[in-house]
Amino acid sequence: MALEEYRRKRRFGVTTEPRGAATPRQRARKLRFVVQKHRAGRLHYDFRLEWDGVLLSWAVPKGPSLDPRVKRLAVRVEDHPIEYAKFEGVIPAGEYGGGTVMLWDRGTWTPDEPDVAKHLAKGDLKFALHGRKLAGSWVLVRTRGYQGDESWLLIKHRDEAASTRDVTTAKPRSVVSDRLLAEIAFEEGGDVRQAVTADPPSAVAAALRDPRTARRKRKRAPAVRHSKRAS
Ligand code: MN
Repeated sequence: MALEEYRRKRRFGVTTEPRGAATPRQRARKLRFVVQKHRAGRLHYDFRLEWDGVLLSWAVPKGPSLDPRVKRLAVRVEDHPIEYAKFEGVIPAGEYGGGTVMLWDRGTWTPDEPDVAKHLAKGDLKFALHGRKLAGSWVLVRTRGYQGDESWLLIKHRDEAASTRDVTTAKPRSVVSDRLLAEIAFEEGGDVRQAVTADPPSAVAAALRDPRTARRKRKRAPAVRHSKRAS
């Protein structure tokens, strides 16, 4: 996939998401990965692996699990531009993916086998993650599930990074700004009431008790709500 589908779905004058360079950068020596927690119509975690100048992308409704017995549905979505790996903020309501985006984890990844294209086509991609929250050995396997070819499973392999602890609730904050989703929505002019439903209640309660919370300032005015997408 190239970036046509990504660009077709977005209005770049309205959303602050990146358009992506016309000529993608040459393959970097270290390949990046990011996980973006995205409270859109539904909460999901966007799992993205840098490959061939773009970010291969899967939407994981329940987020990654460190428990090797847990298989998480991962729906393959359109490739995203490399610059998307830096995006945290608010996509205006009414736009594609409208909602709040958090950079939940980032780092580098290493494919087990060098021929990633072959393993993507086969539907069996094994790799290691070197992130702040996610590490160790993982696999993405395509299933013949109800969502057809785009339905994959994200599974942790057994190793020292495996755990039965729920990493999404244990580590709910942004890896770059240390904010909860509700704090990102508040500061960037998003829908705080929608975003807060995706933060763990205990983390929200702790933030509300923190005197620094009352001193937070909005950086952007709340986004204008559109009942319908403009034509
Ligand atoms: Mn998303």
